[in-house]
Amino acid sequence: MTEAPHARILIIEDEPSITEFLRTGLTYEGYHVVIAPDGLTGYQALQRGDFDLLILDIMLPDMDGFTLCQKVRQEGNDIPILMLTARRGITDRVTGLDLGADDYVTKPFSFAELLARIRALLRRRGKQPETTVLRAGDDLVLNTETHEVTLNGHPVHLTPTEFDLLELFMRHPRRVFTRETLLNRIWGYDYVGGTNVVDVHVSHLREKIGDKPPRRIRTIYGIGYAFYPQGEEEPAT
Ligand code: CA
Repeated sequence: MTEAPHARILIIEDEPSITEFLRTGLTYEGYHVVIAPDGLTGYQALQRGDFDLLILDIMLPDMDGFTLCQKVRQEGNDIPILMLTARRGITDRVTGLDLGADDYVTKPFSFAELLARIRALLRRRGKQPETTVLRAGDDLVLNTETHEVTLNGHPVHLTPTEFDLLELFMRHPRRVFTRETLLNRIWGYDYVGGTNVVDVHVSHLREKIGDKPPRRIRTIYGIGYAFYPQGEEEPAT
């Protein structure tokens, strides 16, 4: 069930903590990522490169996101644009959408939220294979569209965080995730706090999906966790 999207994403953002967070996560998901740290460089990269999606910050050196967005649309470029809005007010969002952006996320955002928006935008352009139903073994099913999880046909009620965690595990079977990676991916780059929160949520998730030894969510001692669709007795590859 591993996806290889291969879509090319241009990120125009000047905040290093955010660009690194995005580069790491999106590269991990199989996207090809190019980063431009200011509006002008980004605009030039857009002219030269063949991108499938643009992630655009608003407050940028040299040329702000609104100006860039407007310019790109006036030139007839219909690349999907996802705006990053820092402010809470709705003015920025409305302005961005008016100028031709397709969608926006408000900072601080979680990686799961951003990834869902990217997938939706690429899907609209036919760049993203549809994978809405994920299965593990013959009893555990997760539907990314309806946000429903069933175990042996019975609904499992997960919190949004538990759901995101399980979706990430199910999309990447047998892959080892460190606690730091999980924090970054599920809680976001701005999360302040220890990695214990990961263990607590994994423990709740295990309980809810009836994960008893041999476990599906395997503890990798000193590192983190890996998901085994059939339980950890299956041979490691
Ligand atoms: Ca900025």
